[in-house]
Amino acid sequence: MSLLDAKAEGADVRVVYGVGDAAKMAKKERSREFSFFAVGFETTTPSTAVEITGKPPSNLSFLISHRLIPPAMKMLVEMRDLSLNGFIAPGHVSTIIGLKPYEDFPSVYHMPTVVAGFEPLDLLFGIYMILKQLKEGKPRLENEYVRAVHWEGNPKAVELMEEVFEVTDGNWRGLGTIPSSKLELREKYVTYDAHLRHDVKVEHGVDLQPGCRCHLVVVGKIKPTDCPLFMKTCTPQKPVGACMVSAEGTCRIWAKTDSNQLRSSS
Ligand code: SF4
Repeated sequence: MSLLDAKAEGADVRVVYGVGDAAKMAKKERSREFSFFAVGFETTTPSTAVEITGKPPSNLSFLISHRLIPPAMKMLVEMRDLSLNGFIAPGHVSTIIGLKPYEDFPSVYHMPTVVAGFEPLDLLFGIYMILKQLKEGKPRLENEYVRAVHWEGNPKAVELMEEVFEVTDGNWRGLGTIPSSKLELREKYVTYDAHLRHDVKVEHGVDLQPGCRCHLVVVGKIKPTDCPLFMKTCTPQKPVGACMVSAEGTCRIWAKTDSNQLRSSS
């Protein structure tokens, strides 16, 4: 059951902009128990850590599902049947972790790696920098997003993350377990763990809907159009898989930007 399904059945599920809003709600409604579902990568993790170290209201607990980007990149670079020529490392994550966690990609795996922003010109320039490295045959780690990303990242944010969380192996939808890719609350903060507080055991859900090939799309093995469900039974209006649900999902973006597909779905 999804959170939306639960809401439709009467559960009190609220969408918040960030963890601060959840804390405000919990302070206002002391008689209710709140659990904040903390998702996202290194960009969003520090705000969860700030709230936890700042002594959140006693009726607020946390369901932690934060994941780390560099271990996922390592998994990609080690997939033998994937033909990768370079990495565009995510700009926003890099504002927090800096460039150091990517050092192995050029030095150990000989993979050109460029941290880039998300504007079209950032991405174009990032691609240009990767092509230049490939042409020169000199893979290295470069920073295109200099206006936001510093080599050392945000040490204060990293310190907070390390204070609150420990790194463990984590399951990724459709990809299996990636070593050292998930964050869990440290013993010191375990009192805020929603699992323990409410005695909830979260079992593994359905990773992939039948027929969905998201796991192949996200690693770049196939294009969305190679999925037999694309724009047939799986559309932005009626998504089947996660890649079509999220506005940032590959299938959703493909559907949105491929005018032929849009025409045939309408
Ligand atoms: S999200 Fe939809 S189109 Fe994309 S792989 Fe899954 S089923 Fe196919």
